[in-house]
Amino acid sequence: MINPASLSRCIADISAILGDDRVTTNTEDRHCYSYDGSNVTHLPDAIVFPQSTEQVSRVMERASHHRIPVVPRGAGSGMTGGIVPVAGGIVMAMAGMNKIIEIDADNQIGIVEPGVVTGDLQKAVGRLGLMYPPDPASLSYCTIGGNAAECAGGPSAVKYGVTKDYIIGLEVVLPSGSIINAGARTEKSVVGYDLTRLFIGSEGTLGIITKLIVRLLPLPPHKETFLLSSSSLARTTGLVARILNAGISPCTLEYMDKTAIRIVADMMSSPPPSTTQAMLIVEIDGEKSVVRERVARLRELLAQEDGFAVTHAVNREEIDHLWQARRAISPACFKLKPHKISEDVAVPRSRIPELVAEIETLSAELDLIMLSFGHAGDGNIHVNIMLDRDDPDEMQRAAVAKKKVFEKAIGLGGTLSGEHGIGLSKAPYLAMEVNAETMAVMKQIKKLFDPHNILNPGKIFPQ
Ligand SMILES: Cc1cc2nc3c(=O)[nH]c(=O)nc-3n(C[C@H](O)[C@H](O)[C@H](O)COP(=O)(O)OP(=O)(O)OC[C@H]3O[C@@H](n4cnc5c(N)ncnc54)[C@H](O)[C@@H]3O)c2cc1C
Repeated sequence: MINPASLSRCIADISAILGDDRVTTNTEDRHCYSYDGSNVTHLPDAIVFPQSTEQVSRVMERASHHRIPVVPRGAGSGMTGGIVPVAGGIVMAMAGMNKIIEIDADNQIGIVEPGVVTGDLQKAVGRLGLMYPPDPASLSYCTIGGNAAECAGGPSAVKYGVTKDYIIGLEVVLPSGSIINAGARTEKSVVGYDLTRLFIGSEGTLGIITKLIVRLLPLPPHKETFLLSSSSLARTTGLVARILNAGISPCTLEYMDKTAIRIVADMMSSPPPSTTQAMLIVEIDGEKSVVRERVARLRELLAQEDGFAVTHAVNREEIDHLWQARRAISPACFKLKPHKISEDVAVPRSRIPELVAEIETLSAELDLIMLSFGHAGDGNIHVNIMLDRDDPDEMQRAAVAKKKVFEKAIGLGGTLSGEHGIGLSKAPYLAMEVNAETMAVMKQIKKLFDPHNILNPGKIFPQ
């Protein structure tokens, strides 16, 4: 519980540091900063807008002194309630710290503030012939800081990996206000514990990221895009592992089931036939000659497979429409029902057919609209369970479905979250995957960094 007198003193102290125009307690603003892409909301008491590491540090020192909770926030596109200030207190809006400080093309690194929008960084480095690979579907609005805190991934992860593979150094403000540096601006560095990796995926619970050193790659000169559709769900999901084992090395291997296709089909230039049960987007990039050879291998593989319609998308507009459609699946789900539970379990990719079959079974048995889509290449399947929160019976059936999806994923050797993190919505299920000893170590780490539990309290661990 927050002591109201301490809260007032803390807000006054912070106003003196940032200036009154960078602190708000206005009710409309508090509502705007009370939610993310999950189903949970909670009003903060104040929102603060720092502009520098030094200001973040001074704010944290005051919050720590007064024992007021602080929740760092990027764009608020998280799917697990990570930015929801469940204990009240202060939301620290980091989106305004959005400078690309440096792009060192010779050494293929970038130094950025956490509020830089991921897609903006990609465009900026792209102009120099470079690439920042992590490409969450939310890339046109999510921030690098939020990506680091969630270890975001995207379609290109199948070839290029996820956010943790591209962040080599961090500047972080701890809950006490201390500023620490982790990592280096070199490709290799083995100097003490790897604190960079510890902060990546820590969901804003250990420190506030104020600067990031990111690795860049040369932009591949050539890419080919294919759409494979089939009237068999099992055959389509089964093909994923065979493509990956055939030496084709796709840079994208995305999957959509029939419901996902249906809700975005009107956005595609050439939607697949209505009999389609599932579809894969396969992209291959690299030097032109290498791509040609891998495309030939893909065609050879498909010649041995039964019943796939293959579309080679060559027109830029057609490819852009296809990606707009893919990225729109999550919001387009609301065409089906007013609310949803979005899960992002991951399984070893050879087990995807079993996971997807279970989703079909649960949907029929529990009479729920459930759809699956996502990054099949790395076994990360988004499962959306559609519901109406005004229907308590449907809510209850959806909760059963969610738990059963988790049990199935873990039973298949998988994990509760491939990229959205635990946040609030998965915290009650953490013990399904993490044993008591492991959780105890995680809690000790949290306590070491945040002894007064003021930084993003209530997240990750079951309450
Ligand atoms: C339509 C849609 C599609 C999506 N597709 C993908 C996808 O393909 N892949 C994927 O991985 N995710 C996806 N997401 C989820 C989301 O976009 C990512 O989790 C993203 O990384 C969140 O970034 P953000 O800036 O919005 O962070 P926020 O939602 O603001 O915050 C997320 C977490 O990061 C913490 N945080 C934010 N900034 C900082 C900071 N500077 N220091 C410390 N902690 C911080 C917050 O406290 C919170 O716990 C999608 C979301 C939507 C709505």
